[in-house]
Amino acid sequence: MNVTLNPYTNCGKCASCRNGRVNACEHNETLGVQRNGVMGEYAVVPWTKIIPAGGITPRDCALIEPMSVGFHAVARGQVADNEWVVVIGCGMVGMGAVIRASLRGAAVIAVDLDDEKLALAKVVGAAHVINSAKEDVAGRVKQLTDGLGADVVIEAVGSPATYVMAVDIVGFTGRVVCIGYAKSEVSFQTKYFVQKELDIRGSRNALPADFRAVIHYMNSGRPARRGPVGHGTVGGGSRQGVPHPGGVLS
Ligand SMILES: [Zn+2]
Repeated sequence: MNVTLNPYTNCGKCASCRNGRVNACEHNETLGVQRNGVMGEYAVVPWTKIIPAGGITPRDCALIEPMSVGFHAVARGQVADNEWVVVIGCGMVGMGAVIRASLRGAAVIAVDLDDEKLALAKVVGAAHVINSAKEDVAGRVKQLTDGLGADVVIEAVGSPATYVMAVDIVGFTGRVVCIGYAKSEVSFQTKYFVQKELDIRGSRNALPADFRAVIHYMNSGRPARRGPVGHGTVGGGSRQGVPHPGGVLS
């Protein structure tokens, strides 16, 4: 059986760890980021970090961790079935958020600059897509949501412009979930935080349950499609009738 690896470390002592939110450990050192990765024939890791991946191929196993980060953001956003969810950024993490939010029954609007990624977002469950290079995102979201704005916005880019966009397009009393790392300062009209009574939530890494949910999804026989990510495909989707269900096309 193939397995994947939960690449996050946790100290067991910080506030996050004490609260059981080990994904946000203050002293986390992710393998392949703060620590060396495991691009080798053998690696020694704690057994507790190994997650069985069933029939998922080794190549597809590489998609599990980034998708689980998107799945975790949907959990942080407490996305429900009757909500409008905008996902800004359709890389592998954002794509995971599109998949998970649509699995929960939400109406998902995917936003990206790349038409190819938006096409894939539709295959895996987005109800609507917006190319932010060509369209007015705020106007389209308003139109689609009957003027109310999104219930949940998931920011999966990390640029100042998309952070501001998230606060702009979320509706009153909505939730903004932040995954992207903005490397520079971002200027906000903070009055919107108050006027809209927003919940702004960080979302970091993923929990074992998120990994398991991704693996369940990828093993569930849902359709896979050739996608722009990593010259490969995403194992998953919510539509029937596409070839090679449950796998990744080569
Ligand atoms: Zn810790």
